Amino acid sequence: MSGHFHPTLDTIPPLPGAYVLVIRLDTPLPPLAPGRYLYCGSAKGPGGLRARLGRHMRKGKKIRWHVDRLTEAGHVEGAYVFEDGNECDLVARLSDLPIPWPGFGSSDCRRCQSHLLAWPVGTVLDLSH
Ligand SMILES: [Zn+2]
Repeated sequence: MSGHFHPTLDTIPPLPGAYVLVIRLDTPLPPLAPGRYLYCGSAKGPGGLRARLGRHMRKGKKIRWHVDRLTEAGHVEGAYVFEDGNECDLVARLSDLPIPWPGFGSSDCRRCQSHLLAWPVGTVLDLSH
């Protein structure tokens, strides 16, 4: 499963798949402190990854999911996109990272403790292979 980082929506395909959204929080969103966070999700519906990531990157949306609070309060820096991916496999690949908010985005998931991970400064992320 290999992923590419997309800083903007332009290059993201309208295909099904999974993604790691990179969100920067400049102000606290309790219990989250300012910093960078990674949210693992998937998009299987119409418009696929492009439609879903477009939603994440757009401001002023109605709060529907947990992650909407974070993308509204913070700044989406881009996303790693995996056309053949599964969000829980992505969480597993990032299992070295801290879990800042147990249950975030994973209330329907029996496998993961959270679909949100903290990305501490200086931690190298290798999602390219
Ligand atoms: Zn999961």
